[in-house]
Amino acid sequence: MAAAETDSEVPCARCSDFLHFSAKDTAAKWLEVDNLLKEVYQHLACFVPKIYCLGPNLNPQNEDLLAQLLLQGPLEWYLCGEEPTVGLAKLEQSNQPSQLCGHVFKVGEPTYSCRDCAADPTCVLCMQCFLGSVHKEHRYRMTTSGGGGFCDCGDTEAWKKGPYCQKHEPNISDSSQKDPLANLSEQMITRTRNVFSIILKYAVHMLTWEKEDELPEGLEPPARGDTYYCMLFNDEVHTYEQVIYTLQKAVNCTQKEAVSFATTVDRDGRKSVRFGDFQFCEQAKSVIVRNTSRQTKPLRVQVMHSSVVAHQCFALKALNWLGQIIKSSDALRRILCLVGLQQGPNGENSLVDTLMLCDSKMWKGARNVYHQLFMSSLLMDPKYKKLFAIQFAKNYERLQSDYVKDDHDREFSITDLSVQMFTVPSLARMLITEENLMTTIIQTFVDHLRHRDIQGRFQFERYTAQQAFKFRRVQSLIGDLKYVLISRPTEWSDQLREKFLEGFEAFLELLKCMQGMDPVVRQVGQHIEMEPEWEAAFTLQMKLTHIISMMQEWCANDEKVLIEAYKKCLSALTHCHSGFTDGEQPITLSMCGHSVDTIRYCVSQEKVSIHLPVSRLLAGLHALLSKTEVAYRFPELLPLSELSPPMLIEHPLRCLVLCAQVHAGMWRRNGFSLVNQIYYYHNVKCRVEMFDKDLVMLQAGASMMDPNHFLMIVLSRFELYHIFSSADCRKRYGRENINKDVVQQNNTLIEEMLHLVIMVVGERYIAGVGQVESYDEIKREIIHQLCIRPMAHSELVKALPENENKETGMERVIDHVALFKKPGVTGRGLYKLRPECAKMFNLYFNHYSRADQSKAEEAQRKIKRQNGEDSVLPPPVPPHFCPLFGSLVNILQCDVLLGILGAVLQWAMEPSGGHWSESMLQRVLHLLGMGLVEEQQHLTGSTEDGISFNFTLKISRPGEAPGNTPSILALLETLQNAPHLEVHKDMIRWILKTVANIKTTRECTASASPADSSGHSQEETVRDKDKAERKRKAEMARLRREKIMAQMSEMQRHFINENKDLFQQSLEELDATTSTSLEHSPSTCDSTLVCVGPRRWRASASDRRQVVTCILCQEEQEIRVDGKAMVLAAFVQRSTVMSKNRKRPTYNPDKYDPLFMHPDLSFGTHTGSCGHIMHSHCWQRYFEAVQAKEQRRQQRLRVHTSYDVENGEFLCPLCECLSNTVIPLLPLTKTTCSTEQPDQRQWVNITSQQIKALHAARKKTNAEGVDDADSAEDCHPPDGFRLDHTPKNPYSGTIKEMLTTFGTATYKVGLKVHPNEQDARVPIMCWGSCAYTIQSIERLLVDEEKPLFGSLPCRQNDCLSSLTRFGSACWTASSQAVVHGHFIRLLAALVPDSQVENTPCILDIDMFHMLVSLVLSYPALHCLDSSGMSEDAAQLHLLHLVTIAHIVQILLTSIPEEVRMEQESGGAEREEEESVCLLYNTLRRHLSSGLHEVTSGWHLWHCVKTGILPYLRAAALFFHYLNGAPAPPELHAVGVGEWEALCGYLCLPSNPLQLYYNNLELLEPLLQGWCSHPGVLQALQSSTALIRFPRESNHLIELPEDYSALINQASSFTCPKSGGDKSRAPTLCLVCGAMLCSQSYCCQTELEGDDVGACTAHTFTCGAGVGIFLRVRESQVLFLAGKTKGCFYAPPYLDDYGETDQGLRRGNPLHLCQERYRKIQKLWRQHSITEEIGHAQEANQTLVGIDWQHL
Ligand SMILES: [Zn+2]
Ligand SMILES: [Zn+2]
Ligand SMILES: [Zn+2]
Ligand SMILES: [Zn+2]
Ligand SMILES: [Zn+2]
Ligand SMILES: [Zn+2]
Ligand SMILES: [Zn+2]
Repeated sequence: MAAAETDSEVPCARCSDFLHFSAKDTAAKWLEVDNLLKEVYQHLACFVPKIYCLGPNLNPQNEDLLAQLLLQGPLEWYLCGEEPTVGLAKLEQSNQPSQLCGHVFKVGEPTYSCRDCAADPTCVLCMQCFLGSVHKEHRYRMTTSGGGGFCDCGDTEAWKKGPYCQKHEPNISDSSQKDPLANLSEQMITRTRNVFSIILKYAVHMLTWEKEDELPEGLEPPARGDTYYCMLFNDEVHTYEQVIYTLQKAVNCTQKEAVSFATTVDRDGRKSVRFGDFQFCEQAKSVIVRNTSRQTKPLRVQVMHSSVVAHQCFALKALNWLGQIIKSSDALRRILCLVGLQQGPNGENSLVDTLMLCDSKMWKGARNVYHQLFMSSLLMDPKYKKLFAIQFAKNYERLQSDYVKDDHDREFSITDLSVQMFTVPSLARMLITEENLMTTIIQTFVDHLRHRDIQGRFQFERYTAQQAFKFRRVQSLIGDLKYVLISRPTEWSDQLREKFLEGFEAFLELLKCMQGMDPVVRQVGQHIEMEPEWEAAFTLQMKLTHIISMMQEWCANDEKVLIEAYKKCLSALTHCHSGFTDGEQPITLSMCGHSVDTIRYCVSQEKVSIHLPVSRLLAGLHALLSKTEVAYRFPELLPLSELSPPMLIEHPLRCLVLCAQVHAGMWRRNGFSLVNQIYYYHNVKCRVEMFDKDLVMLQAGASMMDPNHFLMIVLSRFELYHIFSSADCRKRYGRENINKDVVQQNNTLIEEMLHLVIMVVGERYIAGVGQVESYDEIKREIIHQLCIRPMAHSELVKALPENENKETGMERVIDHVALFKKPGVTGRGLYKLRPECAKMFNLYFNHYSRADQSKAEEAQRKIKRQNGEDSVLPPPVPPHFCPLFGSLVNILQCDVLLGILGAVLQWAMEPSGGHWSESMLQRVLHLLGMGLVEEQQHLTGSTEDGISFNFTLKISRPGEAPGNTPSILALLETLQNAPHLEVHKDMIRWILKTVANIKTTRECTASASPADSSGHSQEETVRDKDKAERKRKAEMARLRREKIMAQMSEMQRHFINENKDLFQQSLEELDATTSTSLEHSPSTCDSTLVCVGPRRWRASASDRRQVVTCILCQEEQEIRVDGKAMVLAAFVQRSTVMSKNRKRPTYNPDKYDPLFMHPDLSFGTHTGSCGHIMHSHCWQRYFEAVQAKEQRRQQRLRVHTSYDVENGEFLCPLCECLSNTVIPLLPLTKTTCSTEQPDQRQWVNITSQQIKALHAARKKTNAEGVDDADSAEDCHPPDGFRLDHTPKNPYSGTIKEMLTTFGTATYKVGLKVHPNEQDARVPIMCWGSCAYTIQSIERLLVDEEKPLFGSLPCRQNDCLSSLTRFGSACWTASSQAVVHGHFIRLLAALVPDSQVENTPCILDIDMFHMLVSLVLSYPALHCLDSSGMSEDAAQLHLLHLVTIAHIVQILLTSIPEEVRMEQESGGAEREEEESVCLLYNTLRRHLSSGLHEVTSGWHLWHCVKTGILPYLRAAALFFHYLNGAPAPPELHAVGVGEWEALCGYLCLPSNPLQLYYNNLELLEPLLQGWCSHPGVLQALQSSTALIRFPRESNHLIELPEDYSALINQASSFTCPKSGGDKSRAPTLCLVCGAMLCSQSYCCQTELEGDDVGACTAHTFTCGAGVGIFLRVRESQVLFLAGKTKGCFYAPPYLDDYGETDQGLRRGNPLHLCQERYRKIQKLWRQHSITEEIGHAQEANQTLVGIDWQHL
């Protein structure tokens, strides 16, 4: 770093050098010269190296300043011809502001698209434009930008409606057609052109300059030194860690510097890591290269001369300057475009071309700068955008090839600009016609996939990693193609037709490479060894799906195009199948008197492929011929006669048979890759251009064939022909072989085959096949989804295919078919099917999986039964076929089908011997039903059809085959009574009834009206009904049994959740009974209920008796001081929930003195419990077992658990609640009511004397051996005070042990120290936890508006009670002297004690903590007293004393009344107001000047009353649990009477100030003493940090109603550590509102020896280890606890459908749901975050593996 020293001096020296420089003069000189280029270059050559890159540490401000003065200054002078500020201002005035917004998006900024009006989903608005647009009232979508791209506001082609926001609305005097140059003088234009061309040329030259040590001609520096940079370049191969590690080694820097280098390299694409002479830099380079070349190619490093780097720096600067200067003037912008696109005199590339073509060679930073310039110049000028688009298209192939090899992501590539041009419909159209863009894109794509098999098909199988990378890259071309096609032309020119068809042909070439790719052959014998690659092919298919659909839509748009495309597609298909029959033997099939020729081909033996895009495209076009009626209007133009139906259906049929065979289990040995392929074939993402089209193709083929022939070929391909062709096929079971597997297989195949026939005849919901619109298609799709169960909006969206605009069309339909049900505080909104839509339900809906089908069937039958209807599910009435497909209905009544149906029915006569299946029969019945429905439809329609389609007649005829077989109808009549067909009876009955109906209709056909088609009639026999009912009951019983079994196993696993409620219920009942009995017990000394003091309520012996059951051994146990210890599972945690000061610095845990809690409650220790009780020994045994198990587990597999055993954590054995210790249960202490007790003054005196005696005794022991004069000072202990008394510890051994266990745990967790049961702070932490927990629960009750008593859940009640009683006993586990010491110091803060130093002032003490600690430590003193003074009296005196201190505290911190309003209250409070004024004035007197004047007694009294209330409520809870006194009924309700009831319960006068006036003698000096503490005045004067009372409850921060406001806020948030960079994962702390840069290297810090992310680090200061965050980009709440625990939680933002959008994937507008936010807040306030995380992690083990600490 030697150079650094001189660094600061250099620029200064130069400054003086440059002092005489004049920009004006230089510009003037330039005006004179002939060769301006040479002159400017000389100028740059001279100055640039003097300004830039003079040392290792750059000084950007200085550089900028100098560059402005020396470089840009003269350029601007020259350009303007006058003072630049004046000239530029003039330009700005004549500027026509662009109507395009053009705002360039930052990473993470919200973007909006209108689903109603956007031309395509890439059209977006910035937030400002959106808010000023009409679209905010439309259906909009919100996303976060990935950076790049700009706002399309003002682009009329981007929006169908409302293209302008208010701001960009064009002026009425629209002069945008005018040439912007018209306003400029000729000279000005020339000068601008000169400057722009020189500077742009210079910049292009420098940025594309590749030599490291030389400069272009004319730029050589006057002097050059041996100064070099070692420049490190970014690549996407090496990880952050690798780079950081290497840099530390190579250039000897600290880790921090290395991180900073790496961050800059990643951001800017390059960074100099060393500066010095050539040798010095070369050395670093070789180390870096050596270190990174082992596995991959090395990091790119260059040693560059400083002047080269300097010129490159200025080149970037210059481009920025150009960008700035054209902003103010559309004229200058146009000149820049002109200069940029101008070709050289000999047709050389323009500067813009040069930049584009060098794109992949430049570093990231340079690319970003020039891309930005393109966006603000070329793309903002309508005229030049077009010219640029042409150049872009011309270079397209080259740019894409460069990009494929480039190792930067697409967002940094010039190719990414395609979206800006291709999505503009007029440009896209122009590029197609003039530059043949469509063909170019497709051919470039095909060219990049060179790896083919011998038939020329793509072969992804043997892709290397590099080829796979390339394959990923070229996929972006498909994206470009999509942009080009996304808006369909409304008018066609001949040229467009020609070029589109040319593109279409190229596209067919692409599809031909896919037709038949990845073929599979059934594996027999052995399982395949390696799963074949299948994903690449499907990726391609998925990417192309929209393109294929769009191609069809373009074709549908123009008759000529459709006809030509159809021809081309057909010939492509014919070409593919030219070898269709080659080598395959022809065979003849015959059945039922029909015969057909086909080939011998078995799917199960030969190659078969699932990829048939050419066939499918033809199927789509065929349907379009029908839809557009082109087929009927121009049959002569179509090659219909050339169609060979068997050829058309062959491959789609094979594919469908493959699926059937996979279902039948015949392809098991082919592994998962095939299963996956079949899955995607049917999946919503692919099916539109796969499965659906195969079906259409079968329909198309079948419609042109004799149905008997079609079916025979189908049977043959299904390899079922032999079963149905034989004459006695109806006796299958008698004859077929006995191999059960084969029979089973064939059964499944028959089922699948029948299903296929059902679909071929029944699926008519594709426009062109049936007479439907797309509306009907979507409607049916949604109905069938909702037939399965009610669904959320997003579930439905997922189940529906989206078009290229990401629209499903669902909104149009949904309200017609469904009812919306809003969500509660959890869950989501659901759509439920309208009952009237259920009649459209088709059990054999083609998009159901088998699982969907059975779920839907069950659901639909259930609904029917509930409505008291017949549960039969007959086929719905289908729409009519379009004429082209009309002949398909004949399949239903053809001989072959009837033969098949008859055979199956015949088989079904016998109870199944495995030769038929229920599903098979069900399908047969469904087909019969379809036939009848069809016939009914024909009957009600035209009479002609009614005659030609006579299904009833066909099924009534007996079979023809040799024997006289019964007719189908006869078979059905027999089957109706077969006992083994109970399940199908309702359907058979329906069929027979319908047949009867049709017959009657036909009989009276001529005259009568059509019959009722419903098929329902009332004549149902009682017997049938009974049977159905019995069956239903049996089914119900079965379901119930299953449910119970499921529940039982659930219970075994979880035991709890089912039981917890029961368990708690019984406790609640128990509680209720005991408390009522207590209230009626006469054992109180007084009639009123008092919880503290000598007059307090006392429990009788029977009240005190408490019996509990151990959850582990189930034994009952009475709680006794000398009995076995019972414990409560508990969780102790640090808390800042009530903190009023999150900025308090952390203390040193080893030295910290927690005796006095500060009133800011900056952090405390909270104890919670699930309320489950165990024997201490049962718990210990359980915990040891957990420990052992954990050790074994850790050895075996290094997985985390949701709990940390080493830290004492375990899960409650009953409810799996996270716990880390146990609280021992203790009985109420026995006390007696003694009569004579000292008053307050006496008591204080006695206690002071006792303390003195203790002081003396301690000194004596300390001074033992040493003769100290002071020790002689005599001190008489008061009567009955036995200093040497050692009280007997009443507790049993196990209780003692548990007292220590819990005390130590509280100490360990609360202070974050190692456990040490001897530490003096153990009891303090216990008292503190007791006080803090009570306080937090008191707050919670207020916030929830619940009464103080009676509303707490059992678990909290039990927890507080055991915690308080433990508190009163925990002193026995510590050394007495230590506890004495604590008591003495505590009391000294209120009652002066000359022997205690450094007592805090009363403004620095939380009085409730004070009260609890005093009361709980007092027994240690009291046990030495034998004078008969009661502990109860002492408690009361302590309460009074602390209460007075608190009143003083409140008065001192009260806020002056703002508006003087004399609030006259009734006489009732007069007295209180006077007394409070009096006290306040006393305080003012003591403090002389420190207190403001207050005259309103009402105000002061109000302050006291509201200020002290939380304290009184907490005190009431405390004494309630300590002494067991039941609470008065007034405190079981919210509202009036609380104050009096509290005062009474706490034995306080209803005007607590009386405490003061009654004891003036004692209290007045104390008061004076408190006020004279120097801390008081100090605190009052620095009123900022003053805590006032009542302390308000903390809230989570306010969130905006509209989520996009948060996104916007987060998008402007920059990482605080890496200088202005956008944060990738901005995360909001919901506790304090801090925005953090989460999940990122830049903001990792070290915390207790671990690297942690910003969130984890933040939790330690903000939430004592617990944090609640909102991940803004993800719309996800994050809970963190400690370093290892965390979970995600549903955000409080919902869309209009009542759903959250975690990950912001759907982009529906989100709004704050207050209820849900309150629920999160409640979790936080009741300290349940950690518990929630525990439950989440137990439920979802993957959460355990996440590295929460790095978030
Ligand atoms: Zn905008
Ligand atoms: Zn706008
Ligand atoms: Zn709109
Ligand atoms: Zn037990
Ligand atoms: Zn539990
Ligand atoms: Zn925070
Ligand atoms: Zn950061």
